[in-house]
Amino acid sequence: MITVEQAAAIIGQTIRDFGVEEVGLDAAVGRVLRENLYADRDFPPYHRVTMDGIALRYDAFQSGRRSFPIEGVGAAGAVQQELRSPESCLEVMTGAMLPAGTDTVIRYEDLEISGGEARVLLDQVTWGQNVHKQGEDRGQGSLVVPAGLRLSPAEIGVAATVGKAVLRVSRLPRTVIVSTGDELVEVAEKPLPHQIRRSNEHRLKASLARYNIAADSRHLRDDMQEVLRELRAMLSEYEVLILSGGVSEGKFDYLPRALDELGVEKRFHKIKQRPGKPFWFGKAPGGTLVFALPGNPVSSFMCTQRYFLPWLEQSLGLPAPVYPSAVLARDVVFKPDLTYFLQVKVQYDEQGRILALPVEGHGSGDLANLVDADAFLQLPMGKDVFKKGEVFPLIFYR
Ligand code: AMP
Ligand code: MG
Repeated sequence: MITVEQAAAIIGQTIRDFGVEEVGLDAAVGRVLRENLYADRDFPPYHRVTMDGIALRYDAFQSGRRSFPIEGVGAAGAVQQELRSPESCLEVMTGAMLPAGTDTVIRYEDLEISGGEARVLLDQVTWGQNVHKQGEDRGQGSLVVPAGLRLSPAEIGVAATVGKAVLRVSRLPRTVIVSTGDELVEVAEKPLPHQIRRSNEHRLKASLARYNIAADSRHLRDDMQEVLRELRAMLSEYEVLILSGGVSEGKFDYLPRALDELGVEKRFHKIKQRPGKPFWFGKAPGGTLVFALPGNPVSSFMCTQRYFLPWLEQSLGLPAPVYPSAVLARDVVFKPDLTYFLQVKVQYDEQGRILALPVEGHGSGDLANLVDADAFLQLPMGKDVFKKGEVFPLIFYR
Protein backbone atom coordinates (compact mmCIF):
# COMPACT_ATOMS: atom_id res chain seq x y z
CA MET A 1 0.00 0.00 0.00
CA ILE A 2 1.20 3.49 -0.78
CA THR A 3 0.73 6.82 0.94
CA VAL A 4 -1.52 9.68 -0.12
CA GLU A 5 1.51 11.66 -1.26
CA GLN A 6 2.83 8.76 -3.34
CA ALA A 7 -0.56 8.22 -4.93
CA ALA A 8 -0.88 11.89 -5.80
CA ALA A 9 2.65 11.85 -7.28
CA ILE A 10 1.92 8.76 -9.41
CA ILE A 11 -1.24 10.35 -10.76
CA GLY A 12 0.73 13.57 -11.28
CA GLN A 13 3.04 11.71 -13.71
CA THR A 14 0.09 11.10 -16.02
CA ILE A 15 -0.97 14.74 -16.36
CA ARG A 16 -1.26 15.39 -20.08
CA ASP A 17 -2.40 18.08 -22.45
CA PHE A 18 -5.51 17.12 -24.42
CA GLY A 19 -4.89 19.88 -26.92
CA VAL A 20 -6.78 23.00 -27.89
CA GLU A 21 -10.16 23.60 -29.50
CA GLU A 22 -12.29 26.60 -30.37
CA VAL A 23 -15.62 27.33 -28.71
CA GLY A 24 -18.20 30.07 -29.07
CA LEU A 25 -18.08 32.76 -26.42
CA ASP A 26 -21.37 31.72 -24.84
CA ALA A 27 -20.09 28.17 -24.30
CA ALA A 28 -16.74 29.25 -22.89
CA VAL A 29 -17.47 29.95 -19.23
CA GLY A 30 -15.61 27.42 -17.06
CA ARG A 31 -13.17 26.52 -19.84
CA VAL A 32 -9.42 27.18 -19.66
CA LEU A 33 -8.29 29.91 -22.04
CA ARG A 34 -5.36 29.01 -24.29
CA GLU A 35 -4.70 32.35 -25.98
CA ASN A 36 -3.92 35.83 -24.75
CA LEU A 37 -6.70 38.35 -25.26
CA TYR A 38 -5.64 41.87 -26.22
CA ALA A 39 -7.58 45.12 -26.34
CA ASP A 40 -8.47 45.77 -29.99
CA ARG A 41 -9.30 49.39 -29.11
CA ASP A 42 -8.71 51.68 -26.16
CA PHE A 43 -10.78 50.97 -23.02
CA PRO A 44 -12.95 53.05 -23.23
CA PRO A 45 -12.65 53.66 -26.97
CA TYR A 46 -13.71 57.33 -26.76
CA HIS A 47 -14.22 59.98 -24.09
CA ARG A 48 -17.39 58.49 -22.67
CA VAL A 49 -20.08 60.50 -20.90
CA THR A 50 -20.88 58.84 -17.54
CA MET A 51 -23.93 60.88 -16.46
CA ASP A 52 -27.06 62.13 -18.18
CA GLY A 53 -26.90 65.95 -18.28
CA ILE A 54 -25.12 68.61 -20.29
CA ALA A 55 -21.62 68.89 -21.74
CA LEU A 56 -19.95 72.29 -21.76
CA ARG A 57 -16.59 74.03 -21.70
CA TYR A 58 -15.06 74.25 -18.25
CA ASP A 59 -13.62 77.69 -19.16
CA ALA A 60 -17.08 79.07 -19.78
CA PHE A 61 -18.27 78.00 -16.32
CA GLN A 62 -15.07 79.29 -14.67
CA SER A 63 -15.51 82.71 -16.21
CA GLY A 64 -18.73 83.05 -14.18
CA ARG A 65 -21.38 81.97 -16.69
CA ARG A 66 -24.22 79.87 -15.20
CA SER A 67 -26.83 79.78 -17.99
CA PHE A 68 -26.08 77.87 -21.19
CA PRO A 69 -28.31 77.75 -24.28
CA ILE A 70 -28.83 74.13 -25.38
CA GLU A 71 -27.66 73.53 -28.95
CA GLY A 72 -28.83 69.91 -29.25
CA VAL A 73 -28.63 66.39 -27.84
CA GLY A 74 -25.82 63.80 -27.97
CA ALA A 75 -27.33 60.37 -27.39
CA ALA A 76 -25.47 57.12 -26.76
CA GLY A 77 -24.94 55.50 -30.14
CA ALA A 78 -25.00 58.80 -32.05
CA VAL A 79 -21.97 60.10 -33.93
CA GLN A 80 -19.92 62.69 -32.09
CA GLN A 81 -21.63 66.09 -31.78
CA GLU A 82 -19.76 69.36 -31.92
CA LEU A 83 -20.39 72.43 -29.78
CA ARG A 84 -20.67 75.47 -32.05
CA SER A 85 -20.62 78.32 -29.55
CA PRO A 86 -18.24 78.12 -26.56
CA GLU A 87 -20.89 79.78 -24.38
CA SER A 88 -23.59 77.14 -24.91
CA CYS A 89 -23.99 73.46 -24.15
CA LEU A 90 -25.27 70.14 -25.51
CA GLU A 91 -27.46 67.68 -23.68
CA VAL A 92 -25.65 64.36 -23.43
CA MET A 93 -26.62 60.88 -22.30
CA THR A 94 -24.60 58.23 -20.46
CA GLY A 95 -22.57 56.23 -22.96
CA ALA A 96 -22.44 59.02 -25.57
CA MET A 97 -19.21 60.37 -27.05
CA LEU A 98 -18.23 63.60 -25.36
CA PRO A 99 -19.03 66.32 -27.95
CA ALA A 100 -16.07 68.02 -29.63
CA GLY A 101 -15.42 71.40 -28.04
CA THR A 102 -16.62 70.30 -24.59
CA ASP A 103 -14.66 68.83 -21.70
CA THR A 104 -16.96 68.64 -18.68
CA VAL A 105 -20.37 67.12 -17.90
CA ILE A 106 -22.91 68.36 -15.36
CA ARG A 107 -25.70 65.99 -14.33
CA TYR A 108 -29.40 66.84 -14.66
CA GLU A 109 -29.70 66.74 -10.85
CA ASP A 110 -27.48 69.87 -10.70
CA LEU A 111 -29.39 71.78 -13.41
CA GLU A 112 -32.60 73.63 -14.03
CA ILE A 113 -33.75 73.46 -17.64
CA SER A 114 -36.31 75.85 -19.11
CA GLY A 115 -36.82 77.80 -22.30
CA GLY A 116 -34.01 76.03 -24.15
CA GLU A 117 -31.44 76.98 -21.50
CA ALA A 118 -29.68 74.96 -18.81
CA ARG A 119 -28.96 76.82 -15.57
CA VAL A 120 -26.20 75.30 -13.42
CA LEU A 121 -27.05 75.17 -9.70
CA LEU A 122 -23.48 74.48 -8.59
CA ASP A 123 -20.82 76.95 -7.43
CA GLN A 124 -18.01 74.66 -8.34
CA VAL A 125 -17.33 72.02 -10.95
CA THR A 126 -14.18 70.04 -11.67
CA TRP A 127 -12.56 70.02 -15.09
CA GLY A 128 -13.39 66.78 -16.88
CA GLN A 129 -15.97 65.60 -14.37
CA ASN A 130 -18.35 62.81 -15.37
CA VAL A 131 -16.17 61.87 -18.34
CA HIS A 132 -14.47 58.46 -18.59
CA LYS A 133 -11.37 59.33 -20.61
CA GLN A 134 -10.41 57.39 -23.72
CA GLY A 135 -7.83 54.71 -22.89
CA GLU A 136 -8.00 55.47 -19.17
CA ASP A 137 -8.55 51.80 -18.26
CA ARG A 138 -6.42 50.02 -20.88
CA GLY A 139 -4.64 51.10 -24.04
CA GLN A 140 -5.21 49.49 -27.43
CA GLY A 141 -3.00 46.40 -27.76
CA SER A 142 -2.65 45.78 -24.04
CA LEU A 143 -3.10 42.30 -22.59
CA VAL A 144 -6.55 42.13 -21.00
CA VAL A 145 -6.88 38.38 -20.28
CA PRO A 146 -3.80 36.14 -20.14
CA ALA A 147 -3.82 32.55 -21.41
CA GLY A 148 -4.14 29.90 -18.71
CA LEU A 149 -7.06 31.41 -16.82
CA ARG A 150 -10.26 29.55 -16.18
CA LEU A 151 -12.92 31.73 -17.76
CA SER A 152 -15.39 33.24 -15.33
CA PRO A 153 -18.20 35.66 -16.21
CA ALA A 154 -15.75 38.54 -15.72
CA GLU A 155 -13.43 37.27 -18.48
CA ILE A 156 -16.38 36.50 -20.76
CA GLY A 157 -17.45 40.14 -20.52
CA VAL A 158 -13.95 41.36 -21.37
CA ALA A 159 -13.65 38.87 -24.26
CA ALA A 160 -16.94 40.14 -25.68
CA THR A 161 -15.74 43.74 -25.41
CA VAL A 162 -12.61 43.02 -27.43
CA GLY A 163 -14.58 41.23 -30.14
CA LYS A 164 -13.75 37.60 -29.41
CA ALA A 165 -16.81 35.66 -30.58
CA VAL A 166 -14.74 32.46 -30.62
CA LEU A 167 -12.10 31.48 -28.07
CA ARG A 168 -9.28 28.96 -28.04
CA VAL A 169 -9.60 26.78 -24.96
CA SER A 170 -8.24 23.49 -23.64
CA ARG A 171 -9.93 20.49 -25.19
CA LEU A 172 -11.70 18.28 -22.66
CA PRO A 173 -10.91 14.57 -22.37
CA ARG A 174 -13.49 12.11 -23.71
CA THR A 175 -14.70 10.67 -20.44
CA VAL A 176 -17.02 7.88 -19.37
CA ILE A 177 -18.32 7.22 -15.89
CA VAL A 178 -19.01 3.60 -15.07
CA SER A 179 -20.87 2.29 -12.08
CA THR A 180 -20.77 -1.36 -11.10
CA GLY A 181 -22.89 -3.53 -8.88
CA ASP A 182 -25.97 -5.77 -9.04
CA GLU A 183 -27.57 -3.95 -6.11
CA LEU A 184 -27.84 -0.67 -8.03
CA VAL A 185 -30.95 0.59 -9.81
CA GLU A 186 -31.79 3.73 -11.78
CA VAL A 187 -32.61 6.92 -9.91
CA ALA A 188 -36.19 6.98 -11.16
CA GLU A 189 -36.82 3.40 -10.04
CA LYS A 190 -38.28 2.33 -6.72
CA PRO A 191 -35.63 0.02 -5.26
CA LEU A 192 -36.58 -3.37 -3.83
CA PRO A 193 -35.52 -3.97 -0.22
CA HIS A 194 -32.13 -5.37 -1.29
CA GLN A 195 -31.42 -2.64 -3.81
CA ILE A 196 -30.21 0.98 -3.69
CA ARG A 197 -30.26 3.77 -6.23
CA ARG A 198 -27.11 4.59 -8.13
CA SER A 199 -25.74 7.87 -6.88
CA ASN A 200 -22.05 7.81 -7.73
CA GLU A 201 -22.34 8.35 -11.45
CA HIS A 202 -24.72 11.27 -11.02
CA ARG A 203 -22.49 12.80 -8.40
CA LEU A 204 -19.47 12.25 -10.69
CA LYS A 205 -21.33 13.75 -13.64
CA ALA A 206 -22.01 16.80 -11.53
CA SER A 207 -18.33 17.04 -10.51
CA LEU A 208 -17.32 16.96 -14.19
CA ALA A 209 -20.07 19.29 -15.35
CA ARG A 210 -18.37 22.03 -13.35
CA TYR A 211 -15.55 21.73 -15.90
CA ASN A 212 -18.00 21.54 -18.84
CA ILE A 213 -17.23 17.86 -19.35
CA ALA A 214 -20.37 16.11 -20.51
CA ALA A 215 -19.35 12.59 -19.55
CA ASP A 216 -21.14 9.53 -20.86
CA SER A 217 -22.22 6.99 -18.29
CA ARG A 218 -22.60 3.21 -18.24
CA HIS A 219 -23.56 0.62 -15.72
CA LEU A 220 -21.97 -2.82 -15.43
CA ARG A 221 -23.43 -5.81 -13.65
CA ASP A 222 -21.16 -7.90 -11.45
CA ASP A 223 -20.40 -10.33 -14.27
CA MET A 224 -16.81 -10.91 -15.37
CA GLN A 225 -17.67 -11.49 -19.04
CA GLU A 226 -19.81 -8.37 -19.24
CA VAL A 227 -17.17 -6.33 -17.41
CA LEU A 228 -14.45 -7.52 -19.82
CA ARG A 229 -16.52 -6.92 -22.94
CA GLU A 230 -17.72 -3.48 -21.95
CA LEU A 231 -14.41 -2.25 -20.59
CA ARG A 232 -12.58 -3.36 -23.74
CA ALA A 233 -14.91 -1.24 -25.86
CA MET A 234 -14.69 1.76 -23.55
CA LEU A 235 -10.89 1.64 -23.41
CA SER A 236 -10.76 2.21 -27.14
CA GLU A 237 -13.50 4.84 -27.20
CA TYR A 238 -12.53 7.10 -24.27
CA GLU A 239 -9.47 8.86 -22.93
CA VAL A 240 -10.56 8.68 -19.31
CA LEU A 241 -12.55 6.00 -17.51
CA ILE A 242 -13.89 6.74 -14.07
CA LEU A 243 -15.17 3.58 -12.48
CA SER A 244 -16.88 3.22 -9.15
CA GLY A 245 -17.13 0.11 -7.04
CA GLY A 246 -15.84 -3.39 -7.60
CA VAL A 247 -12.24 -2.73 -6.57
CA SER A 248 -12.23 -4.19 -3.06
CA GLU A 249 -11.74 -7.75 -1.84
CA GLY A 250 -15.31 -8.95 -2.47
CA LYS A 251 -16.06 -12.10 -4.45
CA PHE A 252 -17.65 -10.01 -7.21
CA ASP A 253 -15.12 -7.20 -7.25
CA TYR A 254 -13.93 -8.08 -10.74
CA LEU A 255 -12.39 -4.82 -11.85
CA PRO A 256 -8.73 -5.27 -10.87
CA ARG A 257 -8.65 -8.68 -12.56
CA ALA A 258 -10.54 -7.51 -15.62
CA LEU A 259 -8.32 -4.46 -16.07
CA ASP A 260 -5.25 -6.65 -15.75
CA GLU A 261 -6.57 -9.05 -18.38
CA LEU A 262 -7.22 -6.13 -20.72
CA GLY A 263 -3.59 -5.04 -20.39
CA VAL A 264 -4.26 -1.93 -18.35
CA GLU A 265 -1.08 -1.31 -16.41
CA LYS A 266 -1.77 -0.98 -12.70
CA ARG A 267 0.00 2.08 -11.28
CA PHE A 268 -1.35 1.52 -7.79
CA HIS A 269 -4.07 -0.29 -5.91
CA LYS A 270 -4.94 0.82 -2.38
CA ILE A 271 -3.84 3.90 -0.54
CA LYS A 272 -3.14 4.23 3.17
CA GLN A 273 -6.13 6.45 3.73
CA ARG A 274 -9.65 6.53 5.08
CA PRO A 275 -11.99 6.77 3.36
CA GLY A 276 -11.03 5.52 -0.09
CA LYS A 277 -8.51 2.78 0.64
CA PRO A 278 -9.39 0.50 -2.35
CA PHE A 279 -8.71 3.15 -5.06
CA TRP A 280 -7.15 1.51 -8.17
CA PHE A 281 -5.36 3.55 -10.82
CA GLY A 282 -3.85 2.49 -14.11
CA LYS A 283 -3.04 3.28 -17.70
CA ALA A 284 -4.08 1.33 -20.78
CA PRO A 285 -1.63 0.67 -23.65
CA GLY A 286 -3.52 3.18 -25.79
CA GLY A 287 -3.05 5.86 -23.14
CA THR A 288 -6.51 5.78 -21.59
CA LEU A 289 -6.35 6.44 -17.86
CA VAL A 290 -8.48 4.40 -15.51
CA PHE A 291 -9.50 5.93 -12.20
CA ALA A 292 -11.24 3.01 -10.49
CA LEU A 293 -12.72 4.65 -7.42
CA PRO A 294 -14.15 2.80 -4.46
CA GLY A 295 -17.91 2.26 -4.50
CA ASN A 296 -18.71 3.86 -1.20
CA PRO A 297 -20.15 7.26 -2.00
CA VAL A 298 -18.05 9.26 0.48
CA SER A 299 -14.91 7.41 -0.61
CA SER A 300 -15.52 8.00 -4.31
CA PHE A 301 -16.31 11.63 -3.60
CA MET A 302 -13.16 12.17 -1.56
CA CYS A 303 -11.00 10.46 -4.20
CA THR A 304 -12.58 12.64 -6.89
CA GLN A 305 -11.76 15.81 -4.97
CA ARG A 306 -8.31 14.86 -3.76
CA TYR A 307 -6.97 12.96 -6.79
CA PHE A 308 -9.07 13.24 -9.91
CA LEU A 309 -9.87 16.95 -10.00
CA PRO A 310 -6.26 18.08 -9.41
CA TRP A 311 -5.21 15.76 -12.26
CA LEU A 312 -7.96 17.18 -14.47
CA GLU A 313 -7.21 20.81 -13.66
CA GLN A 314 -3.52 20.40 -14.39
CA SER A 315 -4.24 18.48 -17.58
CA LEU A 316 -6.35 21.42 -18.68
CA GLY A 317 -3.45 23.78 -17.98
CA LEU A 318 -4.39 25.11 -14.55
CA PRO A 319 -1.94 25.24 -11.64
CA ALA A 320 -1.81 22.50 -9.01
CA PRO A 321 -4.29 23.19 -6.22
CA VAL A 322 -2.94 24.82 -3.09
CA TYR A 323 -4.83 23.66 -0.04
CA PRO A 324 -5.23 26.32 2.62
CA SER A 325 -4.50 25.46 6.26
CA ALA A 326 -7.48 25.25 8.57
CA VAL A 327 -7.57 25.18 12.35
CA LEU A 328 -9.07 22.06 13.89
CA ALA A 329 -11.90 23.23 16.16
CA ARG A 330 -11.87 20.28 18.60
CA ASP A 331 -9.75 17.27 19.50
CA VAL A 332 -10.02 14.27 17.19
CA VAL A 333 -8.67 10.78 17.88
CA PHE A 334 -7.96 8.47 14.96
CA LYS A 335 -5.90 5.38 15.72
CA PRO A 336 -5.38 3.48 12.41
CA ASP A 337 -2.09 4.20 10.68
CA LEU A 338 -3.78 5.86 7.72
CA THR A 339 -4.19 9.40 6.46
CA TYR A 340 -7.63 10.43 7.65
CA PHE A 341 -9.80 12.69 5.53
CA LEU A 342 -12.03 14.12 8.21
CA GLN A 343 -15.31 15.67 7.08
CA VAL A 344 -15.58 19.19 8.41
CA LYS A 345 -17.85 22.19 8.35
CA VAL A 346 -15.98 25.41 7.61
CA GLN A 347 -16.32 28.60 9.63
CA TYR A 348 -14.16 31.68 10.16
CA ASP A 349 -13.01 33.03 13.51
CA GLU A 350 -12.71 36.73 14.44
CA GLN A 351 -9.13 36.81 13.12
CA GLY A 352 -10.35 35.56 9.75
CA ARG A 353 -8.75 32.15 10.19
CA ILE A 354 -10.46 29.08 8.74
CA LEU A 355 -11.98 26.88 11.43
CA ALA A 356 -12.68 23.22 10.66
CA LEU A 357 -15.51 21.74 12.75
CA PRO A 358 -15.62 17.94 12.56
CA VAL A 359 -18.93 16.45 11.33
CA GLU A 360 -17.86 12.85 11.33
CA GLY A 361 -21.02 11.02 10.31
CA HIS A 362 -21.05 7.25 10.03
CA GLY A 363 -18.16 6.45 7.75
CA SER A 364 -17.68 6.11 4.05
CA GLY A 365 -21.25 5.00 3.33
CA ASP A 366 -22.78 8.08 4.95
CA LEU A 367 -23.49 10.06 1.82
CA ALA A 368 -25.94 12.38 3.55
CA ASN A 369 -23.10 13.65 5.73
CA LEU A 370 -21.52 15.28 2.66
CA VAL A 371 -24.36 17.76 2.77
CA ASP A 372 -23.61 18.75 6.38
CA ALA A 373 -19.88 19.13 5.74
CA ASP A 374 -18.07 21.52 3.36
CA ALA A 375 -14.62 20.02 3.15
CA PHE A 376 -12.19 17.27 4.08
CA LEU A 377 -9.41 18.04 6.53
CA GLN A 378 -6.37 15.94 5.72
CA LEU A 379 -5.01 14.50 8.99
CA PRO A 380 -1.59 12.87 8.48
CA MET A 381 -0.49 9.34 9.32
CA GLY A 382 1.81 8.60 12.24
CA LYS A 383 -0.34 10.34 14.82
CA ASP A 384 -3.40 9.31 16.84
CA VAL A 385 -4.44 12.49 18.56
CA PHE A 386 -5.16 15.67 16.67
CA LYS A 387 -5.49 18.61 19.01
CA LYS A 388 -7.85 21.52 18.84
CA GLY A 389 -5.86 24.47 17.46
CA GLU A 390 -3.55 22.43 15.19
CA VAL A 391 -3.66 23.27 11.49
CA PHE A 392 -4.05 20.86 8.56
CA PRO A 393 -4.65 21.13 4.80
CA LEU A 394 -8.28 21.72 3.88
CA ILE A 395 -9.86 20.26 0.73
CA PHE A 396 -12.93 22.40 0.24
CA TYR A 397 -15.61 21.03 -2.08
CA ARG A 398 -18.30 23.68 -2.16
P1 AMP B 1 -18.12 -2.09 -3.84
O1 AMP B 1 -16.80 -1.39 -3.82
O2 AMP B 1 -18.58 -2.44 -5.19
O3 AMP B 1 -18.09 -3.25 -2.90
O4 AMP B 1 -19.16 -1.04 -3.23
C1 AMP B 1 -19.01 -0.54 -1.93
C2 AMP B 1 -20.31 0.02 -1.45
O5 AMP B 1 -20.63 1.17 -2.25
C3 AMP B 1 -21.50 -0.90 -1.56
O6 AMP B 1 -22.31 -0.72 -0.42
C4 AMP B 1 -22.18 -0.44 -2.81
O7 AMP B 1 -23.57 -0.73 -2.80
C5 AMP B 1 -21.93 1.04 -2.80
N1 AMP B 1 -21.93 1.58 -4.16
C6 AMP B 1 -21.20 1.14 -5.19
N2 AMP B 1 -21.46 1.85 -6.30
C7 AMP B 1 -22.39 2.75 -5.96
C8 AMP B 1 -23.09 3.77 -6.68
N3 AMP B 1 -22.88 4.00 -7.98
N4 AMP B 1 -23.98 4.52 -6.00
C9 AMP B 1 -24.20 4.29 -4.69
N5 AMP B 1 -23.59 3.37 -3.98
C10 AMP B 1 -22.70 2.60 -4.59
MG1 MG C 1 -19.90 -3.68 -5.94
